[in-house]
Amino acid sequence: MDGIHGTPSDEREVPAEDTTASSAPAWGVAPDGGRPQGSVCTHVSTLARPPVTASHAVCSACVALGHDWVRLRRCATCGTVGCCDSSRGRHANAHYEATGHPVVLSLAHDESWAWCYVDEVFLTEA
Ligand SMILES: [Zn+2]
Ligand SMILES: [Zn+2]
Ligand SMILES: [Zn+2]
Repeated sequence: MDGIHGTPSDEREVPAEDTTASSAPAWGVAPDGGRPQGSVCTHVSTLARPPVTASHAVCSACVALGHDWVRLRRCATCGTVGCCDSSRGRHANAHYEATGHPVVLSLAHDESWAWCYVDEVFLTEA
């Protein structure tokens, strides 16, 4: 009989310390009277705050179809712009369905929030 190969190791994973928080945006879950308290978004730490360029943003899917839209949303993962759920095309939602990218940011200049399709919570900048 051969001996046992290898020996048990007791390596431990040491979590890397995150010291890059200085430029991180502060997003938090917005209070929502229609939902139970304690909702969380597990993607909030991955959210960047892309520059808002609402003046020349378009929903390219709607442009191609000749549709109008109501409001625009911007994918927080890849920056794709799509129209909101009140719009005819709902292309921001379609983008989430197609890609699984969880969070969209409002592109309206009078709005400052994000929506997570996965956790179904509004997020606002703290
Ligand atoms: Zn989330
Ligand atoms: Zn659209
Ligand atoms: Zn995306």
